[in-house]
Amino acid sequence: MNHAGEVLGSFAVYHHTVSRPNDEEIALIEDCAQLATLAIEHERAEEELRIAATAFELQEGLMITDAKRVILRVNAAFVEMIGYSSQELVGNTAALFDSGRHDEKFFQKMREALKTHKYWRGEIWNKHKNGVIFPCWMTISVVPGRKGKAASYVASVVNISKDKETEAEIYQLAFYDVLTGLPNRRILHDRLQQAMATSTRYKNHGAVLFVDLDNFKTLNDTHGHDIGDLMLIEVARRLQACVREGDTVVRLGGDEFVVMLDGLSEQASQAATQVDLVAEKMLQAVSRPYFLREQGHHITPSIGITLFQGREQSVDELLKRADTAMYQAKASGRNSLRFFDPAMQKALEERILLESELRMTLQKNTFVLHYQVQVDEHLKIIGAEALLRWQHPRRGLLEPSHFIALLEETGLIVPIGHWVLESACKQLKAWEKNPASCDLQLAVNVSVRQFRIKNFVNEVHKVLNDTGANPARLKFELTESLVIDDVVDTVGKMQALKKLGISFTIDDFGTGYSSLAYLKRLPLDQLKIDKSFVRDIIVNKNDAVIVQTIIGMAISLGMDTLAEGVETVEQQNFLSLAGCRAYQGYLYGYPVPLADFEQQISRQVISVSS
Ligand code: C2E
Ligand code: MG
Ligand code: MG
Repeated sequence: MNHAGEVLGSFAVYHHTVSRPNDEEIALIEDCAQLATLAIEHERAEEELRIAATAFELQEGLMITDAKRVILRVNAAFVEMIGYSSQELVGNTAALFDSGRHDEKFFQKMREALKTHKYWRGEIWNKHKNGVIFPCWMTISVVPGRKGKAASYVASVVNISKDKETEAEIYQLAFYDVLTGLPNRRILHDRLQQAMATSTRYKNHGAVLFVDLDNFKTLNDTHGHDIGDLMLIEVARRLQACVREGDTVVRLGGDEFVVMLDGLSEQASQAATQVDLVAEKMLQAVSRPYFLREQGHHITPSIGITLFQGREQSVDELLKRADTAMYQAKASGRNSLRFFDPAMQKALEERILLESELRMTLQKNTFVLHYQVQVDEHLKIIGAEALLRWQHPRRGLLEPSHFIALLEETGLIVPIGHWVLESACKQLKAWEKNPASCDLQLAVNVSVRQFRIKNFVNEVHKVLNDTGANPARLKFELTESLVIDDVVDTVGKMQALKKLGISFTIDDFGTGYSSLAYLKRLPLDQLKIDKSFVRDIIVNKNDAVIVQTIIGMAISLGMDTLAEGVETVEQQNFLSLAGCRAYQGYLYGYPVPLADFEQQISRQVISVSS
């Protein structure tokens, strides 16, 4: 029995045996009662301390600091959490385990909260003695001292790394595919929305590609799901390798993947070409052999593509379109790609077909030159322009409007231009033998890409040497854009070629932006008035004035002029009155094959009727 119990016990015995106490006894009893009360209070205080001590040693880390934040006491849970012993901690400040992850603003807010609300609560990163940084949930309470100032601080700290991991796991499960680690449909929706917003702002295109593996089910059924899973992981990896970092590759489920590309060109056709390149890369990447569990495997994809610009379609609509296009790809024999837009799909197919046909043509050489007469004011044939034609195996004879742009884009214009030059020179040489054609001048169109090649002058020189053609009979038609594109290069090359004896004309003159300053610097012989002005010369006053101005300017610069696209005698008369002395156009003859042209020259003079 404890001290208080003993006192109370003796009092009780006394109370039962003695009936009337005297004064001395009463005083004694009163002393005893006071003692007993004190004893009870003392016991209560001890118990409270015991409770506090027990509470202090619970799982939650506790740290008590003085007003200056010097650590006074920590519990075992805190020691275990932070790695430092209590001897190392006491006397130190929390700076000892500062993670360095929070800036001054963070601590400033904490101090303000402690001052105004007397407590702070929040997530904080601490550093374990072993260097590992971990997240904690911390509550700091102010223990008030005299005059309301903080006497000390009590901080309770809980390690929440586990919660964080679980949170991350939940996030991973909710937004990522477990097998491949790729984002899932939810993230795709988000990113598509974002891409649409950007596309609305910047007008650029984006694309959704639906990728589905061909006959994946058969592989799964025959080789087992293990192999199927490994294959999907590898396909995911290969698809990701085909795109830029910012692009999104998603697994929708099963063997279905979706790829989203954004930041493509503003122009639909160019954007289509960009996507086409990526999709081709994907077709090749996915079709490469697989080596899974020491066995070789093979699979092909079918890819459906749809472009988007702004928010014209909803996310679901886009996915549906890409899906539809993917089925078209499957229907066309698998291992292929299809664009949703039927017109775009067609245009792309045509372009690809034309390009491959062009390349084949280059080997077989199915290009031909047609010749269109050029006449002087007496309608005497003075020469011809060599115009390229493509004898297409399916579509017959094609004019340049169908293929010149493609030749330029693909760079094929360089070898073909070379062929044109060579053929023209051979022709000039052949015409030398005939008195009716020996004085003819042949104009050849030279494209920018061809003209810009480094050794263009040498090439021309070599062709002239090889063919033996007279350079004085050769005329190069350059465009205004070529001239102003790089004046220094142009002037240098023109002068070198001029020295060889070649003359120059500016084709389609008036449609570009040549300035007088440029024209004066160039060793030009002729300006070729564009047919668009000639066409309306009689009916449109502006065109008439433009043509008169061009002619006047040419005369003052010491050049002559040739009008192209002359179709009527009225046009010819107007041009003649304005001072133009050479003409080309349907009025005198269409571009024709060599044999027809040679018949024309045998007649020497062209007869026209109004
Ligand atoms: P260009 O050099 O301005 O050629 C003149 C074009 O006008 C030719 O078209 C010709 O057929 C057409 N034309 C001639 N007379 C008339 C007429 O009275 N009325 C109308 N409406 N048109 C007329 P084509 O043969 O279709 O050639 C188109 C363009 O293709 C040429 O325009 C030239 O820029 C380019 N091109 C043709 N051959 C070559 C070549 O060998 N190399 C390069 N780089 N470009 C070429
Ligand atoms: Mg021309
Ligand atoms: Mg022209």
